[in-house]
Amino acid sequence: MARSKYSAKKKKKSVSRKVIDFFAGSEHRAYLVGGYVRDSTLGRESIDIDVVVEGDGISAARKLNAVLKGKIVSHPDFGTASIDIDGYRVDIASARTEKYPSPAHLPHVYPSTIVEDLNRRDFTINAIAMSISRTNFGEIFDPFDGLSDIKHKLVRVLHRGSFIDDPTRIFRALRYKNRFQFKLEDETERLMREAVKAGMIMKLSGPRILNEVALVFAEETYAEIVSDLIHYGILTLKRRDLRLMPSTSELAFYFLLSKLPRNMLPLTREMKKVVDGFRKIEDTMDKLHRSGTKSKIYNALSPVAEEVIEAMPIVNPQLSDKTKIFHNLRHVKPFITGKDLKKYGFKPENMYSKILHSVFLLQLDKKLKSRRDALAYLKNLSKN
Ligand code: ATP
Ligand code: MG
Repeated sequence: MARSKYSAKKKKKSVSRKVIDFFAGSEHRAYLVGGYVRDSTLGRESIDIDVVVEGDGISAARKLNAVLKGKIVSHPDFGTASIDIDGYRVDIASARTEKYPSPAHLPHVYPSTIVEDLNRRDFTINAIAMSISRTNFGEIFDPFDGLSDIKHKLVRVLHRGSFIDDPTRIFRALRYKNRFQFKLEDETERLMREAVKAGMIMKLSGPRILNEVALVFAEETYAEIVSDLIHYGILTLKRRDLRLMPSTSELAFYFLLSKLPRNMLPLTREMKKVVDGFRKIEDTMDKLHRSGTKSKIYNALSPVAEEVIEAMPIVNPQLSDKTKIFHNLRHVKPFITGKDLKKYGFKPENMYSKILHSVFLLQLDKKLKSRRDALAYLKNLSKN
């Protein structure tokens, strides 16, 4: 394990080395930016490598990929490309300026220089660039004193309108704050509160909110971030609701979604089932608590999503025996099937699942002990 971690680190180093060597030996004006510069300064591993090119970033990315030989995907509308190589990502963007047509909407994008590009960024700690161009290799561009903020452990916006222009930065600020154990700089904190008070979160589209919430739960410190989201009144969630939050990030993610307005998020059918299950988790747990027989346990849990069942013993360990029983019951083979019902002439067929279910419950409680018992019961039933 340690060995593979070591070789993964080495591999990443060789990818960044190749990226730097490529640009240093080319005519492109290119810069390392964003997370990569910030994380190197902090002495942390970065998940991806961000490069900004003055000029055509996509064509530079294609030439770079002739060396890296990874998988490249480009987004011509944004002038960006990503190269995937052995699980690492190199993001190459064309330097750009952004103008917001209206608050909380996506910006219009124009080509620009690196300094203008840094102006559009979220926080000072993410607005630092290091040249990897041949002519000024190693030159640092730090127009907002981001290096000083890294040193003083501060998350600071670049301008007063930052959270209004793009309220996703509210989530981003709290992610960085907790990931690095930084503080929100005072004025930044004040501006954030102001944006929240102005209702900017709800101006974001459902998909953008969902994306931000998912990113929160991808962080190791998701519980602290959720605590901040409550503290700043960002989500419609009360601190006491947290007693029901399961302690794994995937389940906690669904739990949190269940606390958001129902029709706001673009959820798939499967996700909806889980989220709705979390909405009703207290009732279901009450019902399970009162369930004394196997059939009642089965009845209480069989319509419930797997993730919700998984969460119950985490939230309330007293329920763990019953959820275990339920898992075992799911392996029990029913004595009778639809074929038997057909043979006995039951009609209409859309009643079959109901009948099979009720016979199965009798089987679980040992009121029917064998297939023979069950068939006799059916025979009786068919007469009525
Ligand atoms: P992470 O380690 O979370 O990936 P990162 O800094 O690399 O951190 P990304 O989301 O990958 O963050 O974005 C890369 C860079 O793009 C950021 O460092 C920041 O400069 C800029 N950026 C991303 N999202 C925004 C935003 N909403 N507003 C302004 N700048 C942004
Ligand atoms: Mg990144």
